[in-house]
Amino acid sequence: MKAAFLDRDGVINIDHAYVGRWEDFEFVPGAIEAMRRLHRAGYALVVVTNQSGIARGKYSEADFLRLTAQMSEFLLTQQVPLAAVEYCPHLPDGQVAEYRQNCDCRKPAPGMILRAARNLQLDLSLSVLFGDKPSDIEAAQAAGLGRAFLLAKDGLGDPPDLPELAPERFGSLALAVSALLA
Ligand SMILES: [Mg+2]
Ligand SMILES: [Zn+2]
Repeated sequence: MKAAFLDRDGVINIDHAYVGRWEDFEFVPGAIEAMRRLHRAGYALVVVTNQSGIARGKYSEADFLRLTAQMSEFLLTQQVPLAAVEYCPHLPDGQVAEYRQNCDCRKPAPGMILRAARNLQLDLSLSVLFGDKPSDIEAAQAAGLGRAFLLAKDGLGDPPDLPELAPERFGSLALAVSALLA
């Protein structure tokens, strides 16, 4: 089984910074349709999201899980089933003691991707990632993914220097998915 790994904030929903409630969750235009196309093309959809807002005390882990359930249920009504949502609630200098740690899951570390690969028996070399930050692409490379797409607006600067996995750059998830499935 191959997977499409999707960062959440800035890829699926507009990154309003520390989105912890469904009321503040706004899908990126075209993202739902793009995810539906990935699913129909045989990719398991796996969200991999750093959620340092939990360690920072912006919202609780329970808030995040409630929002995740609401997002997943809504996507299901749109014929977009998520195979997994992997998240990292940690931050080395976070405010909430429980989550203050150096972990192996916060991107650019590959822990979330590797965890999903184990649970879902994924072939990572056939899998792809869509992210909006260099740390997303670094995690993809560290996990050994086949391709990575950096969704970047103009002016973000140069992509990271990753000789093994040069990210393909597009302005949105919809455009990147069209290129992948072309
Ligand atoms: Mg992001
Ligand atoms: Zn973590």
